[in-house]
Amino acid sequence: MQVTSASVTTLIEEFAKLPGVGPKTAQRLTFFILRSPSDQARRLAEAIVRVKENVIQCSTCFNTTETDPCPICANPQRDRSIICVVEEPLDVLALEKTGVFRGLYHVLHGALSPIEGIGPRDLRIDELVARVRSQGAPDGLDAPGEAEPVREVILATNPNTEGEYTAAYIAPLLARPNLTITRLARGLPTGGDLEYADEGTLSRALEGRREM
Ligand SMILES: [Zn+2]
Repeated sequence: MQVTSASVTTLIEEFAKLPGVGPKTAQRLTFFILRSPSDQARRLAEAIVRVKENVIQCSTCFNTTETDPCPICANPQRDRSIICVVEEPLDVLALEKTGVFRGLYHVLHGALSPIEGIGPRDLRIDELVARVRSQGAPDGLDAPGEAEPVREVILATNPNTEGEYTAAYIAPLLARPNLTITRLARGLPTGGDLEYADEGTLSRALEGRREM
């Protein structure tokens, strides 16, 4: 059987561009799709298109969302006085799964990496500084209706070289009286990604967070 049709080759090549997918897996996925019912293949294709068309970034926290503000920023039950800073939207998912954190998030969309040429301008750092600054100093003089002041920022960047460097870079930019800057507790696998930590480890890391 001739299986090297242009369509098959194209799909294999496209799958092989995905993170963690090697040529073998790309072939396996392609032949899985070939054997699947047409409507299943169509649903997959439509889901891919839809995610690109409908998903935007929240203008407050920069998490991926279909509404602006995102459901977390828009939720009146969330504690506005505490912001958890993470590298990627997947980290928000991981932290939300623990159910421990009730504050808001700020997604940087990466970590500082001089080696890879990723500098402060490539991340949402200015936006974080402006956000923390605009959510007034907790001096007790805030006008009624003004946004609740930020009292704590958790720098929950990954426990690897880039993540530590990013946290160390951001902390002095945010420093002001009555603002506690914390880092997740040790215990997360060093060098690992937040998104791969299990819920129990992540909950303990959150609860045991320490001041920087
Ligand atoms: Zn948001």
